[in-house]
Amino acid sequence: MISKKLSKIAQDDKQYLFQNYGDRLPVCFAKGDGSYLFDQDGRRYVDFFSGISVCNFGYLHKPLQRALHEQIDRILHSSNWYYNAEQIEAARLISELAFPGKTLFVNSGTEANEAAIKLARRYGKSRDKRCSYIISFENSFHGRTYGSMSATGQEKIRKGFEPLVPGFIILPFNDLSAFKKTIRKNRKICAVITELIQGEGGIQLADSEFITELSNLCREREILLIVDEVQTGIGRTGQTFAYQHYTITPDILTLAKGLAGGIPIGALHAPSEIAAFLERGSHGSTFGGNHLACAAAVSVLKELKKQKTVDHIRRISEFLFSELTKLKDETDSIREVRGLGLHIGIELNKPSSALVVRALENGLIINCTAETVLRIMPPLNIPLKVVREGLQILRKTLIENR
Ligand code: PLP
Repeated sequence: MISKKLSKIAQDDKQYLFQNYGDRLPVCFAKGDGSYLFDQDGRRYVDFFSGISVCNFGYLHKPLQRALHEQIDRILHSSNWYYNAEQIEAARLISELAFPGKTLFVNSGTEANEAAIKLARRYGKSRDKRCSYIISFENSFHGRTYGSMSATGQEKIRKGFEPLVPGFIILPFNDLSAFKKTIRKNRKICAVITELIQGEGGIQLADSEFITELSNLCREREILLIVDEVQTGIGRTGQTFAYQHYTITPDILTLAKGLAGGIPIGALHAPSEIAAFLERGSHGSTFGGNHLACAAAVSVLKELKKQKTVDHIRRISEFLFSELTKLKDETDSIREVRGLGLHIGIELNKPSSALVVRALENGLIINCTAETVLRIMPPLNIPLKVVREGLQILRKTLIENR
């Protein structure tokens, strides 16, 4: 039953907002606390979604709140005409947690990839004017602006927006021979952009062998490897960055979502000699890396540096995978449980969107991706007790909808 309050909200949404997001789920969150969310009528939900892996330390996280309050009392924004101490500190922490290099701050994931694409083309053109092709993969998702959308390997995202940005070659994911064949035939490739776990593509993992070989070939041919960790970065997979599960180091790492725990931000990070290709005047953003966003990022990155954060993610991940595997054996609707850390997909044998609605009614926030995959991405600091509570609701929902 939809309350009067929610019904008025839904009506106003239709009247005043673009309807580009399709039907919203019937809830309007008014508050969060730890790993719980509370709706317009005060009802409590277990959060297994973190606002698409953004609120990675849940809600009202004390260190983040403190950092934000202190920053609000000092300065929100000045602009990139001036030095910015919070930006420098956030970049220093990224260098420490990823690899030594330089960071450029923007405002979202798609902007981070957009800047990475621009950087890659400047790099390519420094060798040969025509060296501008970029390889991406089927089922990938890199964002909704033109460059990132043109790189995205999903027809449904690109459809109706043609002409797209030229120069993208979309290959099957995890297919080494297709990759080898393409780079043999086309010498004008400046970069490859890939996720290591395709999040919007249904939690599909890159094969270790594929990524290692791809990275070696890129190095040999002086092709930049852009790793899009907008969704998988910031501890989500049990390592600070997902590439750390593999034996590779990206040439360009893109980040966003969880980086500032809920304040809009994006970033790309690259070794100094690569960063240098975006020279003075070649790129910029008014808001990119403002004081508030970077103060939040500093707080999040400091939290990630703590061994106890990583230990907790791994412990909760192990527990979740083991319980979900039991659930798979118990119900006949689960085909596969896959993922890394707290980036988990449950592949069902039927479309999963109805289950998301049923779970919501039962008090659990989960999401569906790639039609049949339930996606679970709880806050990284979710207590075991709340995980048990969420799993109980998930079990009940799956059994009710057998
Ligand atoms: N790249 C990946 C891997 C993503 O998952 C997303 C968003 O879901 C993006 C890029 C785009 O990020 P944003 O929505 O912040 O532009």
